[in-house]
Amino acid sequence: MVERSQYEVVIGLEVHAQLQTRTKLFCSDTTPFGNEPNTQVSAISLGHPGTLPRMNKEAISLAITLGLATHCTILQQNYFVRKNYFYPDLPKGYQISQHTTPICRSGFMEINTGTTTTKVRINRIHLEEDAGKSIHVEESPVSYIDCNRAGMPLLEIVTEPDIRSAEEAFAFVTSLRKLVRYLGVCDGNMEKGSLRCDVNISVRVHGDPRLGTKVEIKNLNSIRFIKKAVEHESARLIAMHQKGETILQQTRGLDEVTFTTYPIRTKEDEDDYRYFPEPDLPPLYITEDLMKGIQQNMPALPTEVAGILMNEYGLSPYDASQISEDAELSYFFFELVKQTKNHKAAANWIIGPLQQFLSGHDISLAECGIQPAPVAALIQLIEEGKISYAMASQKVFPELTQHPAMDIVTFIKEHDLYMEASEGEMDRMVEQALHTHAQKIAAYKKGKKGLLGVFVGEVMKLSRGKVDAQLITKKIIEKLNT
Ligand code: ADP
Ligand code: MG
Repeated sequence: MVERSQYEVVIGLEVHAQLQTRTKLFCSDTTPFGNEPNTQVSAISLGHPGTLPRMNKEAISLAITLGLATHCTILQQNYFVRKNYFYPDLPKGYQISQHTTPICRSGFMEINTGTTTTKVRINRIHLEEDAGKSIHVEESPVSYIDCNRAGMPLLEIVTEPDIRSAEEAFAFVTSLRKLVRYLGVCDGNMEKGSLRCDVNISVRVHGDPRLGTKVEIKNLNSIRFIKKAVEHESARLIAMHQKGETILQQTRGLDEVTFTTYPIRTKEDEDDYRYFPEPDLPPLYITEDLMKGIQQNMPALPTEVAGILMNEYGLSPYDASQISEDAELSYFFFELVKQTKNHKAAANWIIGPLQQFLSGHDISLAECGIQPAPVAALIQLIEEGKISYAMASQKVFPELTQHPAMDIVTFIKEHDLYMEASEGEMDRMVEQALHTHAQKIAAYKKGKKGLLGVFVGEVMKLSRGKVDAQLITKKIIEKLNT
């Protein structure tokens, strides 16, 4: 029997990303998620006789944007086809898709698992419309159909079978999700189904150039489930291979409670969909000008930005990746460092108070309206020892999030937040605090370094919180060492 360690897992992903357009792919029905069922459904979405689809130009631009960002070749002459099948949530009886002529081809994305960097080739990215949604109610004899999703614009991103582990699959989807968000192509929200993933997986003995028979696990709607699906399915396939059992090309589902997979159907043939050219849409020609325009307006990509943050601003890889993943935060950083030389503090404010506020309130930077200038001013006031970081981040910053246009200097004065103590006063307070703790000082000097906090706390009390804890800590250490 072949040892488990002798096996190689081979994975290719098909990711569906819902495009952030205002309207559907072929009509003016709106796209926001979570509305009352069947309220975003026109006769065109339902494919009633006599209706005609009309191409959404915004969707084309977003497809090109993602294609260029993943180093794909863009197809200029685009055709659409009908993929025919019956399903209750597909009232048209077909989906309009691009079967053999995907708009983007032959790209790649680099992924990082934390230990290794790998290139995953992208076979194609094509446009298609989504189907409606069936809602099955447990233990009820009826199901419901919501057609709001019918006709939503999707990109299907298909990788080559270049992924070799659950970690790499996880890293790929994580990177792709960041990228589509960054580019404004898709909101990347997996719970709402804006990003869904099918995992194709096979196993082979290391060194075998042939691919094994693949199994496809459909519709995974969280990155964690993708990892679980790969872990379970690869173990199952390896066990079958070891026993010499025949692996069938199957479509399977993931049980989200037990994290095991179950068969849905053995693979349908291409022929079953009877693809044929969509007669109601003319071929779509993408001009050089359109592509150039999109290329020129494309923001620097996160990896490029991260490089600049590390090399030119001296940020740590962690800080750089936190900021560069978000186009708004990156922009904010670059504006902020025009106004302060303290790059590390700028990064800390963005990753700390700012990002916490934004994610805590689930709003964007644009929505909250905070500007770099007051943040730069706070950084300076802290540097000059006029206000403590604690006061700045806990008292001033929350106020700023509510009133982005406020004058922070006035606010600090009115609320009496300036650190009042002069150098001499601080020294006196340190002296006073230490004076009452002779025994603890002895213990400190014998190695109980944790007592430092007690001394600092004492000074903070004496000053009613208006001295800088870091500065005081430094003073106390100096004092104790002499
Ligand atoms: P299909 O026609 O069955 O959809 P495709 O050739 O379009 O197959 O590939 C679909 C996905 O499956 C791609 O992501 C591809 O990389 C992946 N894939 C193809 N063959 C294998 C295999 N033997 N093992 C793992 N993944 C595979
Ligand atoms: Mg396929």
